[in-house]
Amino acid sequence: QALRTSNFLRQVIEKDLATGTYAQRQWGGGPGDAAFHDAGQPDPAKIRTRFPPEPNGYLHVGHAKSICLNFGLARDYGGVCHMRFDDTNPEKEEKEYVDSILDAVQWLGFNWESNFNGKQESHLYYASNYFDFMYRAAEYLITAGHAYVDEQTAEDMRINRGDFGKPGVDSPFRSRSPEENLARFREMRDGKLADGAAVLRAKIDMASPNINLRDPAIYRIRRATHHNTGDAWCIYPMYTFAHPIEDALEQITHSIATLEFEDQRPFYDWLLERLCEGGLLKAPPPRQYEFARLNLTYVITSKRKLAQLVNEKKVSGWDDPRMPTIVGLRRRGYTPEAIQLFAERIGVTKSDSWIDYSTLDGCLREDLENKAHRGMAVLDPVKLVLTNWAEVFGSDGYTEDCTQPALPHSTIAEGQTPPPDRVFKIGKDVWIEREDFEEVPPKGYKRLFPGNVVRLKGGYVIECTGCAKDAEGKVTEVHAKVIPGTKSGTPGADSVKAKAAITWVGNADGVSAEVRLYDRLFTDPQPDAGGKNFLDALNPDSLKVVTAVVEPSLAAAKPDQKFQFERHGYFVADRADHGVGGKVVFNRVTGLKGFVAQ
Ligand code: ATP
Ligand code: MG
Ligand code: MG
Repeated sequence: QALRTSNFLRQVIEKDLATGTYAQRQWGGGPGDAAFHDAGQPDPAKIRTRFPPEPNGYLHVGHAKSICLNFGLARDYGGVCHMRFDDTNPEKEEKEYVDSILDAVQWLGFNWESNFNGKQESHLYYASNYFDFMYRAAEYLITAGHAYVDEQTAEDMRINRGDFGKPGVDSPFRSRSPEENLARFREMRDGKLADGAAVLRAKIDMASPNINLRDPAIYRIRRATHHNTGDAWCIYPMYTFAHPIEDALEQITHSIATLEFEDQRPFYDWLLERLCEGGLLKAPPPRQYEFARLNLTYVITSKRKLAQLVNEKKVSGWDDPRMPTIVGLRRRGYTPEAIQLFAERIGVTKSDSWIDYSTLDGCLREDLENKAHRGMAVLDPVKLVLTNWAEVFGSDGYTEDCTQPALPHSTIAEGQTPPPDRVFKIGKDVWIEREDFEEVPPKGYKRLFPGNVVRLKGGYVIECTGCAKDAEGKVTEVHAKVIPGTKSGTPGADSVKAKAAITWVGNADGVSAEVRLYDRLFTDPQPDAGGKNFLDALNPDSLKVVTAVVEPSLAAAKPDQKFQFERHGYFVADRADHGVGGKVVFNRVTGLKGFVAQ
């Protein structure tokens, strides 16, 4: 597709495909997925990637980048992307998060199914299902002299690890024999040692310039009930040990991580090489590649901080339309297509940078421009009275239908049938935006002021005659005269020249609506950079609720349906609240030209 631009990951994959790096790979016989693969069959997937979230929170726009990347590469290169829950940490993980993550990935337009040679398979995995293998791998490392049980205090271990430019100091336990280590490790497993009393460490190089190679911990004692394995284990693998094994068992080819894992890659490779040597895994092992995580201005992408916003009730929940979570973006009115376009457009790079929020916004406008039906809504209504209505049409109660296209002509492709026109009524009273009338017009003002002639869009040309005001001088009604014979779409439409066309909604069929005008959640483009407290940067005006009047086609919206409110921007019928108890509720997704500050 023309949309896709090359990047370093595509180049790596294309090279691996050309040289057949993974062509000889066989499924089956391996410890991972042997259960549902025929033993010894060549792997039908040309590449395997994976998306491996920890189920400890809701996914956010940063994860969306990773999802689009991993699932997108698999799709484009005849592979499969595994959906894997990295649930090796017994605390913090919950079923609620598992469900929301699966839902988010599917909503974004991806799935973890493969269909090779008519064989349908689901690639949904849980890392905790590999605990047995991980344990065996640890015992193998011990036996081969590549791991030892360390019983230094955590403090001593930290100090003895050394620092950059300063070599570490060997633990007094480093020279234990494999037999002794094995016995001790089994005691760890059997619950004979207290939490924190010992850890299993890989035996690599205490003088390595890479701190991560200075005998990293690979297993720890932790008495905690795991959501999947219950109380079967009181020792748990460390993430850095578990992750490469998960990738290898699933025969992942390209394991794509964010840049902060670059320093872990030597350990990733070291571990998989040892396990291949020992015959526990088959070569070639997966390779890890790192890309820059998404940083988006005015947005926080840390699950912990997002949880804080929810817990401290700074927002209404994980799906508050101001949240950068996928459920939040969805409720705000973002589309999967817009998010995919965004991921494609920002690309993948090897250096961290900040993406301007307007890039995401622009993708939404681009997606909705040709799709979202148009409609008129008055967000700050004041009544306009057509004082000569009865004189022209015979009665104050007379109304007339007006029609306008749901989509502009320019958005209709060749051969495509345009959607039916919108129909709405004009009568004696209509609603207009308060800002569309000025008693004393500023220079260049073209809308309503006494003596000026404008068109009610899709309706008649009118001439403003004045207004009524309350005791405080606030305008309560605008007055105008309708000019007969000027209705849009009739032969006389152009007989009187209007200075402007203004949006309006008829009082006869307009419907009252709650419209939630969202603005950015933070006033600082980098709310949590450099140790700043992001709560200090909360925008007090991030939500303004107004009572608007909308035309009937908008009031008839289905939840989640998106529209362009003419001149105001893109709006969505709220997924949760629209239609409940007959209420009409819209969220502003974004303005027409960029973010509309209030
Ligand atoms: P958080 O720091 O918000 O808790 P995490 O990285 O710990 O996020 P995981 O659940 O481990 O969350 O992430 C799953 C995948 O999503 C990882 O492979 C990670 O690389 C990717 N990911 C997370 N945040 C971002 C981001 N901001 N940009 C790109 N990818 C991301
Ligand atoms: Mg993580
Ligand atoms: Mg994290």
